[in-house]
Amino acid sequence: MSIESTIKDLVNTLPNSVELIAISKTHPAEAIQEAYNAGQRSFGENRPQELKRKWEELPKDIKWHMIGHLQTNKVRMIANFVDFIHSVDSQRVIELINSEAARVDRVINILFEIKIAQEDSKHGWNIDEFNTFVESGEWRKLKNVSIRGFMSVATYSDDQNQIEREFLTLNKLFLQHKETFGSNFDTLSMGMTSDYELAIECGSNMVRIGSLIFGNRDYNIKK
Ligand SMILES: *Cc1c(COP(=O)(O)O)cnc(C)c1O
Repeated sequence: MSIESTIKDLVNTLPNSVELIAISKTHPAEAIQEAYNAGQRSFGENRPQELKRKWEELPKDIKWHMIGHLQTNKVRMIANFVDFIHSVDSQRVIELINSEAARVDRVINILFEIKIAQEDSKHGWNIDEFNTFVESGEWRKLKNVSIRGFMSVATYSDDQNQIEREFLTLNKLFLQHKETFGSNFDTLSMGMTSDYELAIECGSNMVRIGSLIFGNRDYNIKK
């Protein structure tokens, strides 16, 4: 199926409450332009250099989402244009995003990446670690980030029950923290090509879909 028809199909089948982020990492600007022409405006990338290059080349009304682990020395590279950062996995990173956003007089939407998968290679907060950070109240000082919700990647597995358990764990944490963070806290980013339907059943309202739209990637990106 073409990029255009896949986008249109997805938009027709996803519930209205669910936002589609087209994950375009490794794919050329032309492929993104094709999705753009089909009406798609939100795209996700996982490498700061690639993200910046594509932002420079492509229409300026695209909303860019950073979904990959962010090294602290790369935050400045994207702070003047990135719309959402899904991969906030430490206090150091959120504080740095806040100060870089302040430098360019912006407010950047952020999601905390929570570790729900069994593989221990993945980045993100352990739930206990995250709760400790929340209790510290340190995040209240950060005026140039808008704390919007959580992002997570489930275990890569055929075991639907396990994936479902992980998604439900994140949804529960999301509901628990709604009151803490207030009305801006409205985004639960979970679900990719292989598991987005299950993620939506478990409460996701933002799905990150790459290969279904753009085809297989040439090389495997480390998660
Ligand atoms: C690559 C990636 C996706 C998209 O994965 P697909 O299986 O191609 O849909 C989603 N989320 C994250 C964090 C990714 O790195």
